[in-house]
Amino acid sequence: MAEQRVSIDIQGMTCAGCVGNVERALGRVNGVIDAAVNLATGTATITYEDDVIDPEAIAEAVTSVGYAAKTASADESTHDRLEREAAEEAASNRRDLIRISLGVALTAPVLIVAFGISHEAFPAKNWVLFVLATCVQLLLGSSFYRSAFNAIRHGTTNMDVLIAMGATVAYVYSVTMLFIDAHAHTYFDAAASLLTIITIGEYLEARATRRTSQALRALAELAAKDAAVLRDGEEVRIPAVELQVGDVMVVRPGEKIPTDGTVVDGNSAVNEAMVTGESMPVSKTVGDDAIGGTINENGVLRIEATKVGEETALSRIVELVKQAQASKPPIQRIADKVSAVFVPAVISFAALTFILWMLIGGMEHFPRAIVATISVLVVACPCALGIATPAAVAVGTGVGARNGILVRHAAALEAAQGIDLIMLDKTGTITMGKPAVTDIVPAEGVDETHLLRVAASVETGSEHPLARAIVREAADREVESMSVSDFRAVRGRGAEATLDGARALVGSARLMESGEVDSSAFGGAREELESNGRTVVAVAFGGKALGLIALADRPKESSAEAIAQLRARGIEVVMITGDAESPARAIASEVGIDRVEANVLPEDKLRLVEEAQKTGKRVAMVGDGVNDAPALAQADVGIAIGTGADVAAEAGDLILTRGDLSSVVRAIRLSGETMKTIKQNLFWAFIYNILGVPIAALGVLGTVAPMICAAAMALSDICVIGNALRLRKFVP
Ligand code: ADP
Ligand code: MG
Repeated sequence: MAEQRVSIDIQGMTCAGCVGNVERALGRVNGVIDAAVNLATGTATITYEDDVIDPEAIAEAVTSVGYAAKTASADESTHDRLEREAAEEAASNRRDLIRISLGVALTAPVLIVAFGISHEAFPAKNWVLFVLATCVQLLLGSSFYRSAFNAIRHGTTNMDVLIAMGATVAYVYSVTMLFIDAHAHTYFDAAASLLTIITIGEYLEARATRRTSQALRALAELAAKDAAVLRDGEEVRIPAVELQVGDVMVVRPGEKIPTDGTVVDGNSAVNEAMVTGESMPVSKTVGDDAIGGTINENGVLRIEATKVGEETALSRIVELVKQAQASKPPIQRIADKVSAVFVPAVISFAALTFILWMLIGGMEHFPRAIVATISVLVVACPCALGIATPAAVAVGTGVGARNGILVRHAAALEAAQGIDLIMLDKTGTITMGKPAVTDIVPAEGVDETHLLRVAASVETGSEHPLARAIVREAADREVESMSVSDFRAVRGRGAEATLDGARALVGSARLMESGEVDSSAFGGAREELESNGRTVVAVAFGGKALGLIALADRPKESSAEAIAQLRARGIEVVMITGDAESPARAIASEVGIDRVEANVLPEDKLRLVEEAQKTGKRVAMVGDGVNDAPALAQADVGIAIGTGADVAAEAGDLILTRGDLSSVVRAIRLSGETMKTIKQNLFWAFIYNILGVPIAALGVLGTVAPMICAAAMALSDICVIGNALRLRKFVP
């Protein structure tokens, strides 16, 4: 069995009730492990077992509860999809505008006749209203009736049920009265205007909702359309979808880098702001990684494609943002619970309103009872409640992505602002992670070159930053490598390998102990180097100590400032490192950290996080390398610092594509702003209903109440989305 994930586009969801309907339908499907339905983006992200069910059958389940569902087609390029979506959007916009124009053209005369002309002056008044209102019912009402009918047929309810009921009550009451007495007071004006107002409201809301995922669309649009590649030494232009790994692309100044790759020729500055949020252009030369979708600024680059299609950083970022936008933070649960019972509750309340009016007022209040009932049906809005959180999450994650903060799921966005303690990995997180060899200290009678040769030979197999520094040093000194076999990385300690038949160890003091190497041969050199902030690596060959290699790694420029800002927010900052105590302390005091946990093995990082959590603290862990993954997963918020093209492959709840600590501060601020917006939205959505429903039920607004209620309902959704859109102004 394999777990798979699929995105399904769903059309026809109008409110939180719909989201609940789709989620319940998906939950009933055998083989579906998890389903998150997002109203703002009109998508469902589904985790399923691929030997039990396939995406087509899942889409089928959505269709069966009355919504149009479509699985995203794999062989459609990003560009084609965006173009198709834009065309569909334009077509649906046109349809909406036609409906709105018709609605206004018919409803305006209804209002003029109903309020401006008396029965005495115009005896056929009610008949004219009847004809016009009937047209509105048919032209605008049909879509609400269809959706309501669909929902009821499938045993569910949605917002359209309320609107359809409100319009029906007004219309049927008026028709009945007309046939009893042609001069009776009718509510054709309410029936027509509420449909028109809500149609306009839905149109505006759809436009606003689309804007919440604008940042995502902008990211997807970065994908290149075509590429110039070398074929048999000739430059040819091909569509980007035809790019293959290994193709050499030619990128001129001002052009977009078509896909991820490695520079094989040329020098240039590349603007990566759109992907990493880093506004300074990054200089690129032979051997450097380039990210597809970024812009080459001044030199001509030849870049060999290393990743194409779905594998590129950009595709993964887009996918990540999409999934985050479709996920729900825990705070949404209250709103979901309320929405699930909302429509039936409102219908019951409307019925109760009618009964109470009749009981208290008697037959003579029948018209007022009707108005109050219609008003209650129309004013209640599960939509504002349903869109409150997703709209803010969609904007927040989009703004994040534009500023180099990738959110893996909305829960992380909720958790980040409540952090008490933050643990920072040293190498690569606080420091640049680009150590350089400063001293080579051979043991008695050992040749310096031999020491470096052994160390570098072992380290060729390792990805560790220290390893790369040692290999680079050997290359600079033109030291030849030995033949290596049986390489083994010892996590958090070092590496070992067999060279010319003997075992060689490179790593920490701990590694030497476990290899039973007599460390007395190193003398006091280690202590002296470490107290100067050097990371010291020991080298042994055939069980004998060969000497020490000292390396220095500088803190990133922004580290001290970012740490000060974290502390200013009342967050406790701890450095956590596998390195020895004294070099760790030296770096810590430079960046303003007092608490240092040194000599920590990767599994102990996890334990330290757990221990802090047991004291009731909410812990964030910031790390880079793979060895931080378990701790990142354990922390309340795991923050992975990524660099370059691998960004989206990292573990962590938040991924910072710009590899410095100031992004951590930014991420916490973004989290705070997003949560503030969500809380405001939920507050207003609840308050709106708590006040709106009783006002409607009391009938204090007079005969125009249904219109005011329809307008208030439409406005409440738009306000909530508008408030979420304010997040776009987030300044990093
Ligand atoms: P950090 O927690 O700072 O990221 P690690 O857990 O990766 O550090 O490593 C801890 C210590 O283990 C290093 O300071 C070094 O002494 C040793 N070490 C780990 N991997 C290697 C390696 N490939 N070569 C040499 N030393 C290593
Ligand atoms: Mg590290």
